[in-house]
Amino acid sequence: MLEEYKDYDKVIYKQLENAINNNLSHAYLFDLNNNVYAENMIMAFVKEILCKRHSSKEEYEKCSKCKRIDDGNYSELKQIYPDGLMIKKEQLDELQKKFSTKALESEKKVYIIHDVDRLNLSAANSLLKFLEEPGEGIIAVLLTSNLNQVLNTISSRCQILKFNNSRVEDFIKYNNINTKVSIYKISFSIFLKTNIDEYIESFVNNVVDFWKNYESNGKKMIIYEKQYFLDIFKEKEEILNFIKCSILLYRDVINYKLNNKILYYNDYESVLEEISNKNTLDKLLYKLNVILDKEKLVSKNVNINMFIDGLIIDMEE
Ligand SMILES: [Zn+2]
Repeated sequence: MLEEYKDYDKVIYKQLENAINNNLSHAYLFDLNNNVYAENMIMAFVKEILCKRHSSKEEYEKCSKCKRIDDGNYSELKQIYPDGLMIKKEQLDELQKKFSTKALESEKKVYIIHDVDRLNLSAANSLLKFLEEPGEGIIAVLLTSNLNQVLNTISSRCQILKFNNSRVEDFIKYNNINTKVSIYKISFSIFLKTNIDEYIESFVNNVVDFWKNYESNGKKMIIYEKQYFLDIFKEKEEILNFIKCSILLYRDVINYKLNNKILYYNDYESVLEEISNKNTLDKLLYKLNVILDKEKLVSKNVNINMFIDGLIIDMEE
């Protein structure tokens, strides 16, 4: 129920309520801004578009239509996620085909595109056409965490709503989390998931092990550790997450060296100390910059094998 989110973000709540009660735009673009409740609030909004405003929580919980929407079994709602790193034209073509028939179950149809900043060019063109000539009752809900990377031609056709960035503390409170706080913080910052599983914990451990090993053995580690790295970080997405985790790690080593508060890697203080002792502050800043540069490179198409060689060699210079 949308009303549940009234106190989370009063400005957005008012705008969405106004949309439901008065008139809906044909396209919304939400800047999620790493906000932990944004996606749930947006789903509550979508359910009110497709079903109705329920008068009580009990009524809402009994509603079979809302339940089907939640379960992904509702024909007038389609969700699109990047296929690999990008959203492809075929995904939008399929959506348009499915939405070209009359709505059977409600007056409205809604499509949600996640990470709409990740459209490839032909997909962006398809979406533009769809936004320019939306079929009757079709509403676009576009989501992004990088508003400035959404094409202007797309954002200019949407009503834009920006969530406030929520803090790690909100995240922990929102999820009633008491343990493993530092893993949660990293995962919150990198993986943007609301539930943390063992995969993320072991992923972070692998990142820490990798850099610990590099800091002990330097360039030599390429010989011994490359295959290990390639086995663990296979997909582009994983390499990108590896880089993001590494950026936070080196930032925390710098925090440690400067006696600042450790922000993410609280559980790994001995590793921070070890890396800090091996490096001057200048060297740490240099290494951090190398990793930051590599982040841009991963977004483009890059050979993973060469990427890892390049990373280690650049770190050494
Ligand atoms: Zn309902």
